[in-house]
Amino acid sequence: MEASKTINLLQNKEIAIVGGGPGGLTLARLLQLKGANVKVYERDCGKEARIQGAIVDLHFDSGLKVMEEADLMDAFKANYMPGADKYRMVDKDVNVLIDEHNQSSDAGFGDEHFRPEIDRGALRNMLIDALLPDTVAWDSQFVSMELVNESWELKFKNGTTATADIVIGAEGYRSKIRPYLTDIKALYSGATIIQGEIDYPEKVCPEIYALVNKANLIAMDNGKTIAVQPRGDGGLTFYASSLYPEDWIKNSGIDFSDSEQVYAYLVKYYEGWNPIFFTLFEACKHFVPRPLNYFPLDQNWDTKQNLTLIGDAAHLMPPSGEGVNTAMMDALDLSDCLTSGEFQNVQAAIAAYEKRMRTRATLLGKEALEGIKDFASPSEESIKKLIEQFSQNANL
Ligand SMILES: Cc1cc2nc3c(=O)[nH]c(=O)nc-3n(C[C@H](O)[C@H](O)[C@H](O)COP(=O)(O)OP(=O)(O)OC[C@H]3O[C@@H](n4cnc5c(N)ncnc54)[C@H](O)[C@@H]3O)c2cc1C
Repeated sequence: MEASKTINLLQNKEIAIVGGGPGGLTLARLLQLKGANVKVYERDCGKEARIQGAIVDLHFDSGLKVMEEADLMDAFKANYMPGADKYRMVDKDVNVLIDEHNQSSDAGFGDEHFRPEIDRGALRNMLIDALLPDTVAWDSQFVSMELVNESWELKFKNGTTATADIVIGAEGYRSKIRPYLTDIKALYSGATIIQGEIDYPEKVCPEIYALVNKANLIAMDNGKTIAVQPRGDGGLTFYASSLYPEDWIKNSGIDFSDSEQVYAYLVKYYEGWNPIFFTLFEACKHFVPRPLNYFPLDQNWDTKQNLTLIGDAAHLMPPSGEGVNTAMMDALDLSDCLTSGEFQNVQAAIAAYEKRMRTRATLLGKEALEGIKDFASPSEESIKKLIEQFSQNANL
């Protein structure tokens, strides 16, 4: 990789990106393309330390645009999952409401409606492979930092330390960097997901596996949703969602590390649904409850001279298919502002970035908040609306 132009603001500066998710790794790639000196500090012990989750779709005017800017479009095309962008929607009795598998689609790269899906692990590996060797410091869980002579001294859980001139918090919604910028805490959206991972679904829940058909499956009935997605390794991830009180996870009496307890709860909660959904719950040996939180849409903080946030750490929002795309757009905007030569100093560049980031996040966060209740706990009306939307898309 060659440095493409002289860096002004970043010359002789060490940049620490904390968190090696899609946002942090994309930023590292973009900055390295400009010749910047970057290190990513990631909590995981290595690339394969944990399943990264199922698929994410990148969008024409955000994620895919960033892939182009990062010169990673060929790598993306080599790793995405053709056909996984299709949707099948069923009701609780498995009557098919929408089936994109039956629709022929000419959409492809370059088409603004094409939203190719990629396995999160494959995306992460692709981004890591594009970085200079040893850019990622694994097993580096950030704990605290201190400003000493205008540089940050970072401390990690494994006892190591690092010094950086600029720190970027990209460590997701439980960011430990965020409190150095703001006290504003996340709020609860009203919806909670119980996420489950299934290995070898073709053996343990073959009917669901066939319905999913290596793409997106959504099952909806009044007040309840189950969404199922394929993983790149052949497994499945599912999300059983609904509206719950804020402290439900704590007060439910369910030990979520005991898969039999969660299974018993889900079978009761989804009583009256076709039993093939219960095979999904039965096959799952690892459940994670996720309250869907968000940072307030009107949040603001004073720009610091050498510290900022990107991705979920900056603007967590309920899932709406935009989170990864938005984190990547943050990376692009921040990299642009820091390297364009347009700004007098790093603080001015960060201020310009934060303004763009906030404008985008407020808009998308509002849409995500408005959409999450209809998705997690749909009414008959919202199911009808969703079907109409899919039909309109099919006619585009
Ligand atoms: C159920 C669900 C479904 C979703 N589906 C989609 C979707 O389909 N499309 C989409 O675009 N978005 C989706 N999202 C949102 C998306 O996952 C996030 O918005 C996105 O991952 C944010 O990227 P990030 O890089 O900011 O943070 P993250 O992906 O959270 O990455 C943060 C990284 O930091 C590391 N880390 C954490 N703490 C520390 C620490 N203290 N020190 C060092 N490293 C640390 C983590 O290990 C991780 O690697 C979904 C979210 C949920 C909950």
